[in-house]
Amino acid sequence: MLIVMVHKATQEQVGAVLDAVRRLGYTPQPIPGENRVAIGVLGNQGYVDEEPFRDLPGIQELIHVTKPYKLVSRDFHPADSVVRVGGIAVGWGLAPIVIAGPCTVESRDQVLATARAVKAAGAGILRGGAFKPRTGPHTFQGLGYEGLEYLVEAGRAVGLPIVTEVMRIDQLEPVAAVADCLQVGARNMQNFDLLKELGHIGKPVLLKRGMSATLEEFLAAAEYILLEGNDQVILCERGIRTFERALRNTLDLGVVPFLRQVTHLPVIVDPSHALGRRDLVTPMAKAAFVVGAAGVMVEVHPDPAHALCDGPQSLDPAGFAQLMGELRAARGVAASGA
Ligand code: PEP
Ligand code: MN
Repeated sequence: MLIVMVHKATQEQVGAVLDAVRRLGYTPQPIPGENRVAIGVLGNQGYVDEEPFRDLPGIQELIHVTKPYKLVSRDFHPADSVVRVGGIAVGWGLAPIVIAGPCTVESRDQVLATARAVKAAGAGILRGGAFKPRTGPHTFQGLGYEGLEYLVEAGRAVGLPIVTEVMRIDQLEPVAAVADCLQVGARNMQNFDLLKELGHIGKPVLLKRGMSATLEEFLAAAEYILLEGNDQVILCERGIRTFERALRNTLDLGVVPFLRQVTHLPVIVDPSHALGRRDLVTPMAKAAFVVGAAGVMVEVHPDPAHALCDGPQSLDPAGFAQLMGELRAARGVAASGA
């Protein structure tokens, strides 16, 4: 429930509401606004009884929250959140970030060469999968901890923070010890036990949208992480599965301006997994910038033709440098005709 106070509510009136919420066994969260204070009620697992608030002075409105999320919503947290990955700030309205790197860490040389290339072109964060959620078991499953070591080494060598995917709870502690951000892939977006544990790691989380997840489910998944105490969450739109099979997925770019209204958490876009084709990555990365995304994540490989995973959607270093150039120009406006 959200308790909206009247414009001129006194400290005493607000205090009485906070006490009433606590007496019910819930946690009150004051939300200061420009014109009035609101108080969020946390900890209830069902309908909050209005009776204890009925005679309290200074209350304008009681709003029951029927959505499965609160902490991620702007109702409970109106100001934009800023998520810090290493030294990089990610947030709505900030300079958009570019996360780049191989789908999968294949070798020390491969990830180092990619790291050098993306750093030289201006990427802010290095990505690379060590633990890979592959569709079938007869494909390359990633190098595991050995791959993580190479990714850490490459990030340090070029001075970029790193993000990498985790799939199991037992991976969280060792990965959080060396990575700057932990990724939850589309296939694990509703792995609720994993999400709850990510609430305790003290590192930012990059949560990707499940391939068939509604936005309500996506936000509810993020809510699990925030509810356990970690508000450093970046959401990532990576395309959804629709009737259309011409491309790998359907990039749902409307979610960017929509989620900006709904949540304070930053949203980035991954055009690589959405499109599945390298020739379409740059135009859609630009589109993501234009609609206000807090950043993009793209796959880059030194030799895409021989990549062990997702080669067709990976840019080579020259392609990535070109993308960076086009992204820098993307928010410009055409000059009016002479
Ligand atoms: C990835 O980013 O490496 C990945 C596996 O993507 P997704 O979870 O979006 O399929
Ligand atoms: Mn991939």
